[in-house]
Amino acid sequence: MTVATDILAIRLDHPENLMARYFSERYFSALSQDDQARVLKIIKSGLDNPDSQMGAYAQHGGDYDDFAPLLEPMIRDYHKIAAGQGIAQKHDWSATTSPCSLEDIDEALRDVSMRVRVGRNVAAFPLPGAMTKADRIEFEKVMIKAFDVLKDDPDFGGAYYSLTPKSAFELKGQAYQDRVDAHQMFKDMSGDRYLNSGGISSDWPFGRGMYISAAEDFIIWVGEEDHLRIMAMKRGGDLAGLFARLHVGLDKFSARVPAFAHSEKYGYITSCPTNLGTAMRASLHMALAKLTQGGQDLEAAKTVAQKFGLSVRGVGGEHSGAGQGGIVDISPSARLGITESEIMHRLFDGAKALWALEKGA
Ligand code: ADP
Ligand code: MG
Repeated sequence: MTVATDILAIRLDHPENLMARYFSERYFSALSQDDQARVLKIIKSGLDNPDSQMGAYAQHGGDYDDFAPLLEPMIRDYHKIAAGQGIAQKHDWSATTSPCSLEDIDEALRDVSMRVRVGRNVAAFPLPGAMTKADRIEFEKVMIKAFDVLKDDPDFGGAYYSLTPKSAFELKGQAYQDRVDAHQMFKDMSGDRYLNSGGISSDWPFGRGMYISAAEDFIIWVGEEDHLRIMAMKRGGDLAGLFARLHVGLDKFSARVPAFAHSEKYGYITSCPTNLGTAMRASLHMALAKLTQGGQDLEAAKTVAQKFGLSVRGVGGEHSGAGQGGIVDISPSARLGITESEIMHRLFDGAKALWALEKGA
C-alpha cells in the first residue's frame, strides 16, 4: 500500500479530513525525496487519525510556502477563502476599545465564562512538532526571563509554573490537575493522539508551563500546540474588556520576546493551519440545553452554529463533551482573513443568533 492509496481510503471514509481531500498523488510524487519526507511528517497526524478535521501540522514556519500546492487549498477551505481571492492578513484590534457586552443580548448573559487566546511562535525556533528536547528546555528558559516584565507590572504581576521535572517553579500532581480543572492549564498532551502524531507532544512534560496573573485572568501557556498561547479569561459579559485585556498584556509581553514567526500573507504562523492569521480563538461557554438536546447531541448544535461561522466544542475543550445543562464552547471558526475586531463581533453576533434560537427552540 502506498501513502496515496491510504489517503484515498481516508478520503472516502472521512470527507471532513482536509488533508485527504486535497492531497494530490501527482504533486507528491514530483517532489524530491527530502521534500516527500517533510510532507509525510506534516501530514502524519491526518494519516494516523483519519477523523482529523485538518490532518496536518506544520513543522517549520517555511512549510506553508514550501508546500503551498498542498496546504493552501486546505487553508482556504477551512477559513472559507474562495480560490480566486487573495490572502493578506490584516491586524486590527480597534473595536476592542468600544463597548461590546453580552448583557445587550440578554440580562441572563452577564455571567458567562469568556476566553480569548492567540497562538504565537518564535521565529528562531522550529515549530513544536520539530523541536528537540533541548530546544524545548531552552525555549522555556528564554520565556522565564521574558516573564519578568510581567511579574514587575502592577496589572499583570503573577507567577510562572513549570511542568519540567525538578524545575525551580515546578507544578505537579494534584496542584497541576487543579489548574487543568480550572481551565487555566493545558491537559497532559501525551494522551492526545493528534498531537502525538504531529510530534508536538514529544518530550512531555519538559519545557511546558504557564504564567498566570495574580487575578488569574491573563495566562500564557508555554510549549503546547504553539510555542505560546496567550489568553485573557474571565466570567462576565464585557467582551470588549476581555479583548482589551489580552491586547494590552500581549503588547507588553511581545516587546520582550524574540520576533514571532509572521508573514504578510498568513499573519501569525502556527502549527495547525486552522490557527493561521490572527491565531485567535475567542470562545464563550454557553448553556445551549435545547440546541444540544440536553447536552446529548453536540452534532446538532454544530450544524446550527456553522451557519453563523461558529464552531462548537465540549466544555473541556477540543474533543470533549457538553457540560451540565448543555454548556458548550462556541467560537468563530475563521482566524485567517478576518481581523481581531471582526472575530469579536462575529462571536457577539453568533452568540446572539444562537441564544435567540435556544430561547425560541
Ligand atoms: P484552545 O485550542 O483554544 O486553547 P482548547 O479547546 O484546547 O482551546 O481548550 C483549552 C482549555 O480552555 C480547556 O480547558 C477549555 O475548557 C478551556 N476553555 C476554552 N474556552 C473557555 C471559556 N470560554 N471559558 C472557560 N474555559 C474555556
Ligand atoms: Mg487546543
